[in-house]
Amino acid sequence: MSKEKKSERKEKLFYRQKNGYDLISEKERRLCEDYCQGYMSFLNTARTEREAVREGIRLAESKGFVEYKPGMPLKPGTKVYSSNRGKALLLAVIGKKSLAEGAVIAAAHVDSPRLDLKQVPMYEDNEICYFKTHYYGGIKKYQWLTIPLELHGVVALRDGSVVDVCIGKDKSDPIFQITDLLPHLGKDQRKKSSAEFVPAESLNLIIGSIPDKEEVEGRTKLAIMDLLNKKYGIVEEDFLSAELIAVPAYDVREVGFDRSLIAGYGHDDRVCAYAELAAILEQDKPEKTSICILADKEEIGSEGVSGMKSRAFERFVGDLCDTQKVKLEHCFANSLCISADVCNAFDPNYPEVSEKRNAAKINYGMGICKFTGHGGKSDSNDASAEVVAHLRRVFAEKNIIWQMAELGKVDQGGGGTVAMYMAERDIDTIDAGVPVLSMHAPYETVAKLDCYMTYKGIKAMYEETTPAEK
Ligand code: MN
Ligand code: MN
Repeated sequence: MSKEKKSERKEKLFYRQKNGYDLISEKERRLCEDYCQGYMSFLNTARTEREAVREGIRLAESKGFVEYKPGMPLKPGTKVYSSNRGKALLLAVIGKKSLAEGAVIAAAHVDSPRLDLKQVPMYEDNEICYFKTHYYGGIKKYQWLTIPLELHGVVALRDGSVVDVCIGKDKSDPIFQITDLLPHLGKDQRKKSSAEFVPAESLNLIIGSIPDKEEVEGRTKLAIMDLLNKKYGIVEEDFLSAELIAVPAYDVREVGFDRSLIAGYGHDDRVCAYAELAAILEQDKPEKTSICILADKEEIGSEGVSGMKSRAFERFVGDLCDTQKVKLEHCFANSLCISADVCNAFDPNYPEVSEKRNAAKINYGMGICKFTGHGGKSDSNDASAEVVAHLRRVFAEKNIIWQMAELGKVDQGGGGTVAMYMAERDIDTIDAGVPVLSMHAPYETVAKLDCYMTYKGIKAMYEETTPAEK
């Protein structure tokens, strides 16, 4: 500790953040640990949006949630979920108050950056068989070279049946890999910028190398196709209607001698998805209706039928409103949405990209972003000061450790979330979530304390009883 003289005036007047470990009790540390074990197991299970939705439904059903059916009776305490095509999930616990008074909504996404297989993925080159990929979301391509990759997804067949694929997760399975150039011959490669030295069309997965016994052109491809046909009953044409995804074959692990951090693939944004899921599963009869969204397609702009721009959200909440004879627009106008998404954690290895007074730090709690976007706040939801004040009030009452966060220096870059698409619906929305180190890398890192505080923060919002000032 510094020898600085204690000044009561300074204590009173200055805003000072504290490391969460200076604030948290022993009892809370144990709760944090329990919570994080649950999260780690969720993340290990959910490597794709489809798997996150499946696991979300399993957890919800174990807590008494039932699948929503139009017209079913809804009363305070009714717990329902609705899967949007198996790729996004909506959950609600009906509150004691009318939906005319609004709902408390938490919206996270369960898709993460990765490599999708192309629709005609298979080819042979120099007797090695490959899958061609098309990257999904914002990745640094070089990070995906030489790492172990698993294949997850579905092959939808012409007869309407769907074949599930998951290869590499089981330790006895093979993994897949993209090669890199050896440094000995990297003279020209080293001169290129990192954006150039891995062309997207070179992100090709090795899938086999033993040629078929039949003396034909494409012998290796024939042998692999034969294996796939025997195991999955598919022929090459079936890839046309497949969604196969290569994700890092890394187990979720604790990081550091003190095990304070968690490394895993897809913290963005399954760490917030799990937080809001865990929070809504504990709701019994909240004042206002609690709504939880696990959205798809955030990483490519929230587009598509399963993304946050989709009217599947209106369909679900509109149905809930209809049963109470409430106009959906009035429910939205009185609702509050936590856009639960990760933010960038200040990285002491790269201090130059952040502005330290406004950067989120690991172990300083849930990160609140009043705005995201880039440049002069373009493409941003800029939450109102009144909304921030409302959060301050609730978080102070419930001892939530939280901090303000901004994604890097102004004009350094930027990013977006689902927040602006919620705000466009006339819903007061604010971004809040877990600060992440190495965001969008195949293996990202978060701090346990921040994961736990994000869950606690969302839970506090679901359970708050003071009305938001309009
Ligand atoms: Mn995200
Ligand atoms: Mn992201």
